[in-house]
Amino acid sequence: MQLIESNPITSFEDLDLNPILVRTLKNQGIEKPFPIQAATIPDAISGHDILGRGQTGSGKTLAFGLSLLNTIFAMKSAPHRPLALVLAPTRELAQQINEVLHPLARSIGQDTVVIAGGMPYGKQVSALKRGVSILVATPGRLIDLLERNDVKLDSLVVTVLDEADQMADMGFLPAVKQILNQSKKDSQRMLFSATLDRGVDGLVRQYLRNPKQHSIKEIETSKGKMDHYVFVMKQQDKSSIAHQIASRDGKTIFFVRTQRGADRLTDNLAKVGVVAGALHGGKSQSVRTRTLARFKEEGSAVLVATDVAARGIHVDGIDLVVHYDAPADHKDYLHRSGRTARAGEVGRVVTLATQNEQRAMGGITMRAGVEAWVMAMTPMHQKLISITGAKEPSGIPVSQVAVNKVATASKPSPSRKFDKKNRNKRNRRKRFTAER
Ligand code: AMP
Repeated sequence: MQLIESNPITSFEDLDLNPILVRTLKNQGIEKPFPIQAATIPDAISGHDILGRGQTGSGKTLAFGLSLLNTIFAMKSAPHRPLALVLAPTRELAQQINEVLHPLARSIGQDTVVIAGGMPYGKQVSALKRGVSILVATPGRLIDLLERNDVKLDSLVVTVLDEADQMADMGFLPAVKQILNQSKKDSQRMLFSATLDRGVDGLVRQYLRNPKQHSIKEIETSKGKMDHYVFVMKQQDKSSIAHQIASRDGKTIFFVRTQRGADRLTDNLAKVGVVAGALHGGKSQSVRTRTLARFKEEGSAVLVATDVAARGIHVDGIDLVVHYDAPADHKDYLHRSGRTARAGEVGRVVTLATQNEQRAMGGITMRAGVEAWVMAMTPMHQKLISITGAKEPSGIPVSQVAVNKVATASKPSPSRKFDKKNRNKRNRRKRFTAER
């Protein structure tokens, strides 16, 4: 396996990518490939299967995206028969991948569509009918459309599995296999995953042919850019400290373990004057989309997320990650922490640990390979202010109206009627729509 540490390639031209793609990237201000792109693109465009081990924020979307676009550059897709498929665990991630791929695809006369649950069928079905060439899909909805014969996968020339370990975690492996079984054995496959456990190794053995492996050393890359802190506090101080951190300027994300916990923290923040959005699988898709959009748009914003919902969060500019509830293990610690210090930015990661949790946190940070500063913390402690920018919240409750602003219902879709017809069928498929 090749470990990617330095980046001798200085331009996308050096990677033999189609000049139109290079120009479109340039227009977006993207000129120099990130290490994972420089390493994987040459192998991928020469047709090899790829096994990529990169943390989120490393630039893997463009790594597989540019490769697949280069491959299908001059091809034409037939109705219902796409040429390329990207599978992702959550609809948020699918949407974000699509935002990256869509303009590049349009620049070479190709098109993309997001195939995901919680969205109307109409637009997805008509794109397939039209002969859209690239699908960015979550497994559940794609299976639905396969069963309805709206899509055939026998013309796929390239399939990408993004965040395969997360798909495994969410119980999608049977669906992923069912999908892969419908593509040609000799078509190209690229699999990206932070880890190879939870059945991902089996997927690699079964579906990838002599893959070229590329790995970014997860811990090495995060060490330089992220500072880790474990604040040890009395249980009774935890809320005040969290509220003071949430009142800081900047983009902050709080991780909690349960949906209920997310709602509770969000409500408590509102009571002391901090507007925060809750992101979890118990919220409707329109609310989740708005919450995430608001978090992205605003310079200073607070998001309270569960682990599963946060898997789709790829937002730049998050400069503080707070583990409000301790993570389950070191992998969750790294996944959560990876929401900051994306794309070379600098970030801080703070864990709020009670005295009872201190020992367990020591084990988690050690296994994660990070050196964390451990310090006793009290409300408005000088260190709390200097490290996180904590402030006293106003104490003036945010009205429910303001909190609910993020939850404004979206306009009814014209395809609702069509959707209604399929609701029963979708309900049967609910096993695929776990908290996404
Ligand atoms: P990803 O890991 O694919 O989600 O990418 C993380 C961030 O890096 C995104 O904001 C990308 O727009 C950005 N990015 C990816 N590749 C490059 C590049 N070669 N140059 C500059 N920014 C990039």
